[in-house]
Amino acid sequence: MKPPPACFTNVQRPEEDKGKTMNRAAIIDGKAFADGLLGRIGRAVGTLKSASGTTPGLATVLVGDDAASRIYVRNKVEKTAAVGMESFSRRLAAKTTTEELLALVESLNADDAVHGILVQLPLPDHLDAALVLGAIDPAKDVDGFHPLNVGGLVCGDRSALAPCTPTGCLMLLKDRLGELAGLRAMVLGRSNIVGKPMAAMLLGENCTVTVGHSKTRDLEEECRRADILVAAVGRPGMVRGGWIKPGATVIDVGINRIPAPEKGEGKSRLVDDVNFAEALSVAAAITPVPGGVGPMTIACLLRNTLLAACRQRGVAEPEI
Ligand code: NDP
Repeated sequence: MKPPPACFTNVQRPEEDKGKTMNRAAIIDGKAFADGLLGRIGRAVGTLKSASGTTPGLATVLVGDDAASRIYVRNKVEKTAAVGMESFSRRLAAKTTTEELLALVESLNADDAVHGILVQLPLPDHLDAALVLGAIDPAKDVDGFHPLNVGGLVCGDRSALAPCTPTGCLMLLKDRLGELAGLRAMVLGRSNIVGKPMAAMLLGENCTVTVGHSKTRDLEEECRRADILVAAVGRPGMVRGGWIKPGATVIDVGINRIPAPEKGEGKSRLVDDVNFAEALSVAAAITPVPGGVGPMTIACLLRNTLLAACRQRGVAEPEI
């Protein structure tokens, strides 16, 4: 195992722990890693502009008024501008029909200034999300949800655009652990967005992969065998300290909003899928929430947009 890089900081021990041999996991600082990645993307965008006159463009499509989705899209638009890319923001009313949304996707597919298209999920229930995602030009599918890109990922095609959250998780794991071959990995959750592509990526790294879900028997025992544990279940604090193998690396994808009456009436706070305090004394390293996987997701979206722009213009892809 290579020594932890600068973006991993050991947690300060509280006074009462000093002198004891208690384990304290390193915190995997996804925010610092993502900032570094965004810096490299920004420089590559500058090089692409001056070398070929191309400015990568990302179109975001938001349907309806979901508050969390509005915040996610706003963050993506801000970061897009910050790395020097062009941002095309499209907002549609909640009552938009599937046909209207498909027409917008078609027009973005045909727009040469748009190199990446992101349709913010979840879509309102009356819309056919699979149809809409399948209508995005695979070359512009920077979320990596088109069946052609999903198939490419599973088949080990490195040119497939891969989903952003698991890509970010994998980057953090490789930065922390170096070679992953032969390690036991447990992916908790089997969504198309996180769990399944995460499992495919870890398999691609020659890990021995188990995928856990709501029907898995002996879930705790399965988790306890894993050198790498990726939690993406959307269940606050579900993974307890006793589920974690001592010395494991834990990636906590969960972002769950729960009521926080202690902060005032109607207030809420974000919590993770892993019981962070318990995990600290068992794991070797763990991502925090916030500041772990979240910032990596947006950075990987912009990385995909840059790669998509280079491919569409026939320009060599930068190593980032
Ligand atoms: P989904 O709801 O789509 O999937 C959850 C998965 O967890 C399902 O496979 C489900 O199993 C499994 N699961 C649920 N409850 C249990 C249980 N009690 N025991 C075992 N397995 C269970 O969620 P997502 O994958 O979209 O998201 C997961 C979490 O990650 C959420 O908190 C989400 O907010 C967060 N997230 C964070 C991102 C980031 O950028 N940091 C990006 C995307 C998501 P089954 O299939 O059997 O129902």
